[in-house]
Amino acid sequence: MKTALTIAGSDSGGGAGIQADIKTFSSLGVFGMSVITAVTAQNTMEVKSVQMIDSQIISDQISAIFDDIHVDAVKIGMLGTKENIDVVAKELNIYRTEHIILDPVMISKGGHHLLQQNAIDALKEKLLPMVTLITPNIPEAESLTDRKICTIEDMYTACLKLQELGANKILLKGGHLEGDPNDLFFDGHHFTWLPGKRIHTKNVHGTGCTLSSAITAFVAQEETLLSAVKKAKDYITIAIQHSLELGSGHGPTNHFY
Ligand code: PLP
Repeated sequence: MKTALTIAGSDSGGGAGIQADIKTFSSLGVFGMSVITAVTAQNTMEVKSVQMIDSQIISDQISAIFDDIHVDAVKIGMLGTKENIDVVAKELNIYRTEHIILDPVMISKGGHHLLQQNAIDALKEKLLPMVTLITPNIPEAESLTDRKICTIEDMYTACLKLQELGANKILLKGGHLEGDPNDLFFDGHHFTWLPGKRIHTKNVHGTGCTLSSAITAFVAQEETLLSAVKKAKDYITIAIQHSLELGSGHGPTNHFY
């Protein structure tokens, strides 16, 4: 069986973070493993509080896995602090994996900061150049490139700017722009549009986590990156179509329907 590792934060409500990643891996037939970087006290309405995990135990979790188990692909989600970014970059430089998918989680849909402001530079300098694919949404790409993204033209420019910053391949998710959620994939040479149809539901908690972990599961199973991205987009579309009316806020996407 192929294996995938998620390095991310825990969501007690089960909709995003580590929990979304493991559910995605399982539903796609990949053996999931986790390195927990932060514990969030969270439900469908809000992030109540966050406890960052000590960087030594993050380092130990990574080495415990890699020293014993073959890892086919890695997904990185919420890292929280500069210290966590430094340690994850250091460990992944030691234990080299062919596929690393980075979802640069910064702010929850409810507006809670999941990455400290001083950590953005470390993310750009240390992680961006070493990962296979980065999957920012529009606000994350704006923060990484220091420029507003309002149009399709801006999306092309942002991809080129991210490449200048050292990114290898980019999936820029267009869902925050008006209209249908069309995503732009840039492999460093060619652009490919991935068109989508907007699904009108408030139950979209954990969509970014689910998309990036689905890409990870597909590349672990030896799909090419573009094919993995396309299949993952189909997966998240169906998971949103079947999303769950749990709690009073934003319900989670559904991995088992
Ligand atoms: N909590 C954790 C631990 C996450 O990793 C993420 C991922 O983006 C979120 C919350 C945010 O989820 P959303 O913005 O989909 O509500």
